[in-house]
Amino acid sequence: MVDSPAVTATESAFVFWSFVVFVFGAVVGSFLNVCIHRMPRDLSIVRPGSHCPHCGKPLRWYHNIPLLSWLALRARCAFCGTAISPTYFIVELLNAGLWLALWLKFGPSPELAVYALLISLFLVGMFVDLEHYILPDEVTIGGTVVGVAFCVALPQMQGASDWTTGLLRSVIGLLTGGGVLYLVRWFGNLMFGRKVHAFEKGVSLVLDKARLQLDDHEEKPEEEAVKDVLTSKRDRIQFQATSGRIGEQNLAGLLVRITKEDLTVGGQRWTLNEAPRLEAVAHEIELPRDAMGLGDVKLMMAIGAFFGWTAVLFSLVLSSLLGSVVGLLLIAFRAHQWGRPIPYGPYIVVASFLWIFFGTDLTQWCLNFPIH
Ligand SMILES: [Zn+2]
Repeated sequence: MVDSPAVTATESAFVFWSFVVFVFGAVVGSFLNVCIHRMPRDLSIVRPGSHCPHCGKPLRWYHNIPLLSWLALRARCAFCGTAISPTYFIVELLNAGLWLALWLKFGPSPELAVYALLISLFLVGMFVDLEHYILPDEVTIGGTVVGVAFCVALPQMQGASDWTTGLLRSVIGLLTGGGVLYLVRWFGNLMFGRKVHAFEKGVSLVLDKARLQLDDHEEKPEEEAVKDVLTSKRDRIQFQATSGRIGEQNLAGLLVRITKEDLTVGGQRWTLNEAPRLEAVAHEIELPRDAMGLGDVKLMMAIGAFFGWTAVLFSLVLSSLLGSVVGLLLIAFRAHQWGRPIPYGPYIVVASFLWIFFGTDLTQWCLNFPIH
């Protein structure tokens, strides 16, 4: 059997196609990098061609070979020597590896094409969220629309035999996903949305031209845009100043409140861009703790549209488990910066990938689990 020439031919064809899938996955991964870099900046993903984000020089074709160029250039721009983020390499490798895994699990099938598209789309969402704390609508709303369309065209994705049942299950899935996560978000922000931090040695805060720097004398302070720290409308930073000043005015004893749009000191109010420079010291400060963004809600909607409501519950449970474990580790190793929201999107994405590969088996296992 093993020596039969027919099997050997099939086997080498299989190895050949596995290689093709991997390479094609890496090439698409390279395009995903363009999306990850340009989408949150509202730039065109088609023009101009690839160039170094630092010196702007257009890349030659041999600087643009997925995986290999990054390694050959030793992670530096060929013209100006600026370091190229490892994200480029990681995204290409992840997309290639996941496409290969899909090929190994599903073989040549409609599922292969649908899941490959979904995985690439979600990888874009995951890496944009990690860097910018937003999930682009192209990924979440786009994913929902594509998910519904696929369930109509391929009702077997929802375990249905006709398109109306496929559509119905997809819509139930997206309503469950959006609805459940909207409730979780609403409760989360209500219960845990704000937290007062106490600083024995005091914390110094500088707000200038809508940029904020907070120094707790423990970690190296970093300046951040207010809109990256306060992501939702009801987010706020509030404290009673121990000392400090705004413009020429003394701040001691005054209540300071910063929101996404404005700054209030005592009774006075400015928009963030018009406010004079503020320097303050406080010993207790209320910082927002964002449970999750609206993007996460829309992302779960997309998962429901693709896979139905069981996948929503699976992804919800698994992503919160993953999120808690990683969040605790980050805080334990002090790798997490103050007030920064930990993005939740990446955990949902990882959970949905696990669903693609193991969801059906896991559901079967749970249904057959012997109860003693
Ligand atoms: Zn350069």
